[in-house]
Amino acid sequence: MKLSFKAFDLKLKYPFTIANFSRTSTPLMLTQIEYDGLVGHGEASMPPYLGESQQTAADFLVKVDLSQFSSPENIEEILAYVDAIAPGNPAAKASIDIALHDLIGKIKNQPCYSLFGSQPAQMPVTSCTIGIDKAETVKKKLLETSDFKVLKVKLGGANDREMIETIRSVTDKPLYIDANQGWKDRHEALEKIFWLAEHGAVFVEQAMPKTLVDDNAWLTENSPIPTFGDEAVQRFGDVEKAKGVYSGVNIKLMKCTGMHEAAKMIAKARQLDLKVMIGCMSETSCAIMAAASLAPLCDYADLDGPWLTIDKPYDDPILQDGKIILPNTVGLGITPKA
Ligand code: MG
Repeated sequence: MKLSFKAFDLKLKYPFTIANFSRTSTPLMLTQIEYDGLVGHGEASMPPYLGESQQTAADFLVKVDLSQFSSPENIEEILAYVDAIAPGNPAAKASIDIALHDLIGKIKNQPCYSLFGSQPAQMPVTSCTIGIDKAETVKKKLLETSDFKVLKVKLGGANDREMIETIRSVTDKPLYIDANQGWKDRHEALEKIFWLAEHGAVFVEQAMPKTLVDDNAWLTENSPIPTFGDEAVQRFGDVEKAKGVYSGVNIKLMKCTGMHEAAKMIAKARQLDLKVMIGCMSETSCAIMAAASLAPLCDYADLDGPWLTIDKPYDDPILQDGKIILPNTVGLGITPKA
């Protein structure tokens, strides 16, 4: 087995802006693992605020020696080795996990979703994210999301009600709310959630800072709609900690080192009676199809990466009735552009 990787800057359709900071692309590392004439594709997506970069990924990946393993199918052993090379680096680790699964699908002549017992017919709709922006820009973005049945709205700023009122002046689609830890007072947060629920919010993600465990638990107990932990939930061990604090967990391959651990987290969450959402960063179809392969095992999907980016290295997934179609092909079913 031979690993290779190259840096790629994924351009965003709209600049991503938060206070004092704006970015127009997301740094990726695209990986390939070659074995027996077959190639598996993987990806690391590294939004800067999460602490990984193309440099840290390169420094990590150069240490990975897959030549010591006789077959990609020893995946448990390979991933345990990769995880032990260094702490952290979840996206770099995911880029190996995803490439290995694509490769195993190709070796077994199976789509990746069937490796996990995932049924394409159970695919939930995927939401498309609307970031915090001026009313005119929000309206323009809404016109571009007509193929999606659900919207995810980023709140947590001073103009939360304006954002919702702007959206509601255009569409009555259900809304997934993501406050990204933006609400600091639990009573204000609860009041907001009641108001949002009256305006068609389905659930609210990371309403308050993850460190405020008691406040988040209180909110979950009193909220009229489910709450999800996202920033609070990175890897397998965090699922158990989410019980009693949130109604559900948002699992992302770039946080949890890939499909193998994500599948374990989904099973654990089910066992604990937690709801499950699968989300993404700015990612190409490679990591998105990896997450989509697991999405039928989840309640909600937020896998909009390819539709928020331009000049992409792979063809976009097919969206039908607001759901990503899982093609009955081998591996992830992605096609690199010529
Ligand atoms: Mg989130």
